[in-house]
Amino acid sequence: MQTDFRNLPSVDRLLSDERLKSLEDAYSRSLVLDAARQLLEESRLSIARGDAAPSFDTLVDSICTRVELLVQPSLVPVINATGVILHTNLGRAPLSQETMAAMELTSRGYNNLELDLETGRRGSRQVHVSSLLCRLTGAEDALVVNNNASGVLLALTALARRKEVIASRGQAVEIGGGFRIPDVMRQSGAKLVEVGTTNCTYLSDYEQAITPRTAALLRVHSSNFKIVGFTQQVALEELVQLGSQHDLLVLDDLGSGCLLDTARFGLDPEPKVQDSIAAGVGLAFFSGDKLLGGPQAGIIVGKQYLVDKLRKHPLARAVRIDKVRLAGLAVTLLHYVKQEAEQKVPVWRMISMPLAEMERRARKWTQHLSGLATVLDGESVVGGGSLPGSTLPTRLVAIKGPHKGKGQNTVQTLAARLRAQQPAVIARIEGNSLLLDPRTVPPEEDDTLLAALQNALKAVGITEN
Ligand SMILES: *Cc1c(COP(=O)(O)O)cnc(C)c1O
Repeated sequence: MQTDFRNLPSVDRLLSDERLKSLEDAYSRSLVLDAARQLLEESRLSIARGDAAPSFDTLVDSICTRVELLVQPSLVPVINATGVILHTNLGRAPLSQETMAAMELTSRGYNNLELDLETGRRGSRQVHVSSLLCRLTGAEDALVVNNNASGVLLALTALARRKEVIASRGQAVEIGGGFRIPDVMRQSGAKLVEVGTTNCTYLSDYEQAITPRTAALLRVHSSNFKIVGFTQQVALEELVQLGSQHDLLVLDDLGSGCLLDTARFGLDPEPKVQDSIAAGVGLAFFSGDKLLGGPQAGIIVGKQYLVDKLRKHPLARAVRIDKVRLAGLAVTLLHYVKQEAEQKVPVWRMISMPLAEMERRARKWTQHLSGLATVLDGESVVGGGSLPGSTLPTRLVAIKGPHKGKGQNTVQTLAARLRAQQPAVIARIEGNSLLLDPRTVPPEEDDTLLAALQNALKAVGITEN
């Protein structure tokens, strides 16, 4: 063991290696030095555990790999074969060609973000989207912020701080990733007054909870779950009526915020932003990167005097949106204005994709997997906290794990191998099968996906039989 420690080269000797010298030239001395020190330390630890010292060449190899890994960005594209259209872990909505082009153009150089080109004076960044949003939703005014959670926080802080906000117990929800309505409420300084029961809330529940300290009635879209059976929630129109009788604001956190009619695609009806505005809410809140299909943003639409209060609040600056996403959002909204969202916005293209298309692609994929895969009937979901429990019929490509022994394990290993491909392929696992849904894979990625699949299958030893 002692000798093994002595077999380790010094840092200086390592750094004098030609490969490490060129790595230094390509990147930086400190990157290579840090990696060399780290690997020497790791080798000492493994020698202490009884392993042999690595050879000089092995050490140099490992240092190169470590440095190359470090200079690669870790946020990279993946292929989403899960069939979940809005997958929060996979970055939610993919953007339209036009949206991406606008974002690239805006990042490349200067722009008129806050300059009124007519007067030459300072303008508001909001003008680039507010009139589009008003046109699309029927609202008097609009404000766009960083994301929906910050929009809700801004509104509660600006309008209900030190006051009470009444919400149905069935809507005091957690959206996922730790966004909980009661926590957001606490953060804003407003007091949440929960009324009703988990499954049933009546108008009288809200009415009885109104006190002189009440500032608002809040509706929250339940987003990621569905209560079935004996349930009762109050219609938005009734809440608005109650609000106006008692001079209270009605705030509507729509979550996904949909502008199109989902029932046309065989889905449950998702509440539309236009309907909330028509019902007379004070403010409605929704995300830019859920069903709208644009970049991350929090969109607030509603009454002008309320939007004005939010705009002037100091927190508005802390949650403001950047120029690149603003440019992308404007172009995504224009797809709706031009009534071409279904053709241009990827989220809607996937939702409206005909079953025959998934059938054709699934057959094509299985043909390339020579007897290892079958086509099954299955379901895609919209996800992203919209349309809980509502699914779209699809065709899945299924790869079964071996029947005997560690079947489950092999399917898990296959999924892990797929994630290790470049680009990574993310699939679904159900029971003993790995499932791939063509709906969320752009057709131009078919070849890449098939190559990754073949690699991964070979690596785990699932071969033709
Ligand atoms: C998704 C969601 C949010 C959070 O929106 P982000 O844009 O992710 O901040 C808030 N409320 C509801 C009801 C949601 O579904």
